[in-house]
This record gives sequence, C-alpha cells and structure tokens, in this order.
Amino acid sequence: MPKVVEKCSFCGREKSETLVLIAGLNGHICDSCVQQAQMILQEELSAERNKDFAEHKLLKPVEIKKHLDQFVIGQEDAKRVISVAVYNHYKRISHFERAKKDDVEIEKSNIVIVGETGTGKTLLARTIARMLNVPFCIADATALTEAGYVGEDVESILARLFQVANYNISATERGIVFIDEIDKIARKGDNPSITRDVSGEGVQQALLKMLEGSIVNVPPQGGRKHPEQKMIQINTQNILFITGGAFDGIDRKIANRLQTSQIGYKTDKKHDSIDKDNLLQYISPVDLKAYGLIPELVGRMPIVTFMRSLDRQTLRRILTEPKNSLVKQYTKLFEIDNIKLTFEPEALDFIVDKSVEFKLGARGLRSILEGIMLDPMFELPSKGSAKALHITAPYVEEKFQKTNMAKLKVA
Ligand code: ADP
Repeated sequence: MPKVVEKCSFCGREKSETLVLIAGLNGHICDSCVQQAQMILQEELSAERNKDFAEHKLLKPVEIKKHLDQFVIGQEDAKRVISVAVYNHYKRISHFERAKKDDVEIEKSNIVIVGETGTGKTLLARTIARMLNVPFCIADATALTEAGYVGEDVESILARLFQVANYNISATERGIVFIDEIDKIARKGDNPSITRDVSGEGVQQALLKMLEGSIVNVPPQGGRKHPEQKMIQINTQNILFITGGAFDGIDRKIANRLQTSQIGYKTDKKHDSIDKDNLLQYISPVDLKAYGLIPELVGRMPIVTFMRSLDRQTLRRILTEPKNSLVKQYTKLFEIDNIKLTFEPEALDFIVDKSVEFKLGARGLRSILEGIMLDPMFELPSKGSAKALHITAPYVEEKFQKTNMAKLKVA
C-alpha cells in the first residue's frame, strides 16, 4: 500500500516542507497557515473593536475628572486641564472617523505636564489610559537618540505601544504614549545662536515628526532597524502624546517673564497677586521655549499644565484615599491570610513625617511602609493564631529604626 503523505489541508504543503503540521479530525494545518489565520482573526477582531470604540459613549470632562479623583489626589488644575484635553482628543477621533472631506479638521492637542518627579505625572497618564481602555506605554526621553546613534530610536516607542496593543495596528493608532523627562532633551542655553548646543535637538526633531501625526515605519519587534526586518506602518495622527518633565529651574524663566510683563503693564492689577512660591502655575509654552525646547515641538504640545509639589497633607491623603492606596493594598494582602490589618492615624502621620523629612515624596511612602511591614509580613502568615494586626505609632517607630533609611540618617 502506498504511504500516505500528510499535507496541510489549507495550503497543500507536505509535512517535510513545514515546521509543524497539526492534525485535526479530518485534516491538517501547518504553522504558516496557523499564523495567517491568526492575522485574519486579528483584523476581524480589530474591526469589531473599532466599531465598539466609535459607538462607545465618551465620558464628559466632569466624569473623567471624577474618575481621576479616585486615583490621583490633589492636582486639581492638571486634572481639569487633562480631562478636557482627553475629552476633546477622543471627540476629535470619533469626528475624524465620521467626517466628510470638507469638514473642519480638528487638530490634535498633545499635552505637557511640568512638575517635580514623584508628583503623579505618570500616574495621571496611566489612569487616563486605563479608563479609556486604550494601549498605553511609557518612554524615557533620555534613552532616545537620533537615528543612527547608540540608543533607542524614536520609533521604538511606537514598537512598544504596538506590543502593548497586542500587535493590533488600529488599537495602537488610538493609544496614549507618556514620554517622561522631556526636559532632558532641551537645548542647553537660551539663545541658540550664541550657545548652540544641539545635543537634544536631533531627538526633538525626530519626536516632532511623530507628535505631529505622520506615518512612521516601525520595526515590529522593537530594537534597531534592520534592513531585512519587515516594517509596519503606524499612523500617529490619533495617538495622544503626554509628555512630562521636572524642568528644573523653569520657575526662574517664569519669574523673568512675569516680571518683564509686569513692567510693560504696570497698571495691570492681575499681576499684583502673583504667588511667588508656586510659579509653576503660571507656566506657558513660552517658558518651555525659553527652557530649550524647539518652537516646533512646543507648538505640537499646545496643552501645558503643571503638578504641584506634594505637601504633608496631600501625602497623608495619598496613603489612604486613592482607590488602590498603599493602606488598602496592605490591608488586602493581610486579608488574604485572614488577618485584619488596621493602622492608628498617628502611625500614618509618622510615615508621612519621615517621607517629608527625607524628601522622598509619594514614592517614599511606599519604601518606608515596605520597611515597616517586612517583619509582620514575614512572620504572621506562619502564625496560625494571628487574626489581627493593629499598627501603632510606637510600633512604626521601632520598625523604622531597623530600616536602612533610618541608618542613612545616622550616617
Ligand atoms: P512622576 O511621573 O511625576 O515622577 P509618578 O506618577 O510616577 O510620578 O508617581 C510616583 C508614585 O507616587 C505613584 O505610583 C503614586 O503611587 C504616587 N503618587 C504621586 N503623586 C500622587 C498623587 N497626586 N495621588 C496619588 N498618588 C500619587
């Protein structure tokens, strides 16, 4: 009897020509047909998702802000500005999808958030993306270089977004990218004609292209471009870019500008009430230019907002109020072991005090708590008898003394 040659029932390739041939009830399928089928499936699913998105009821700015309030404490100005910006952005996309050719074209508005590190810039961007259920990725501007240099190409950001979007192009094209440390690629020196330092300028130019909305060739696997690697094309027209940076020293630029305009408009009453301790609230695109961002890039990020530095009161609220606050997280962790964890208010005050003392901001709260909770997290799960743990101020103080942080202070 002649030997039956196993073949792919879809493309007819013989087993020897394939990597894997999977057997079904009445046929076979080879690895490349599985891959093709997967692509067809993804396209179909993404068409479905697009339909869902177009029909998705957009939350109004007030509702967006309410959502943000659950996760981001304080920062009222930034939350308002971003709620409006995000609302407009997604309204613009749904308009764009339905618009006729001669309709008014609504331009994209990327956002810059200026504020010290640890004040919640990333948290804000991430919360927005999660709320909208769109792909989100974070990139660090300092890692970016001009094409051809050692470092990451600007396109790699889109490759990451594409990966987060499960290799779905249309989802990628609606995503949100957060670019941190945008201030670090600023041109040094105010006046480009005198102290021309182009270190960051090439990267700014490369970013500009992506931010303004263009078709970018992206290596799907990320990394450097290889000539043999097949590129995918991503249209960045509807990708929302939120950039953030500390812009150290920008308050001086703001002060300069305010003073100059004050001389010009002496009679302008408005300037009498300048809050000198919090100049960031007066931030405007002009200051970003003065700081060394090229005007074209500033022009592509028309929405400028700021984060306040976190005072003691806000830090205290951050410990308990957010939906996934640290206290709630630890309580949950212990609850899984059937232990009821509670904190004395003074214990929380102590943690805040230490974070302020060591200038650690909101990130410090986590490391301090982690140090304090280490012993009980180590011991209690094995003690079957423990049913509750009440954390008091003396307990926190004692545990804190054992942490590396306390030792730092002694040194
Ligand atoms: P940034 O991007 O400004 O450096 P992050 O968003 O990474 O700061 O904040 C660091 C951490 O501090 C966050 O994960 C969050 O837990 C906490 N945090 C900072 N600011 C806030 C805030 N306003 N509300 C709630 N949590 C905050």
